[in-house]
Amino acid sequence: MSDSIHWFVVTCPSDEQAHVLGRSLLDWMIERKIVAAQLCPRSGLYLPGDDAQGFDHGIDYCGVQLVQERTVFHAGDCGLEGLACPSCRQVSAADEIVWDEAVDKWFAGQDDATLNCPVCLQAGRLHDWQFLPMPWAFGNLGVGFCNWWPDEVMIQSLLAELGPDTRQVRQHM
Ligand SMILES: [Zn+2]
Repeated sequence: MSDSIHWFVVTCPSDEQAHVLGRSLLDWMIERKIVAAQLCPRSGLYLPGDDAQGFDHGIDYCGVQLVQERTVFHAGDCGLEGLACPSCRQVSAADEIVWDEAVDKWFAGQDDATLNCPVCLQAGRLHDWQFLPMPWAFGNLGVGFCNWWPDEVMIQSLLAELGPDTRQVRQHM
């Protein structure tokens, strides 16, 4: 069976801040019984808590995964078909643009890595480009709901806790 993860991704100015925000979000979820207080040693996930909703009891691999290091949150087997430029909004095919180099630079620590648009020739921050068909995100804090589908109320509460710059990525593997 394939797994799906609904990621909430934040780019904190430092990894230290990512740890602080991650810990505080985890405490918030534990307090509301959305997740259990202890990490499950077998799956490496925080299992659904007593008041959790939106998951299937029949699915074994289910819970919240917390990532607190620089990570490319990609869409998994949805692949990458094209990229939309933040300046002109034109979509270029993935093979018309050297996106992998910019991603490598960002991953190596260059926060302001840019991509050049073959249409309008403008350079745009990697963060501002839209990856298609499913969005990607670049950050050092990721809260992933594995095989768990948070409802709109839950999504809005998470976004309120994590801040307005949170990106959402739906990954299928
Ligand atoms: Zn452009």
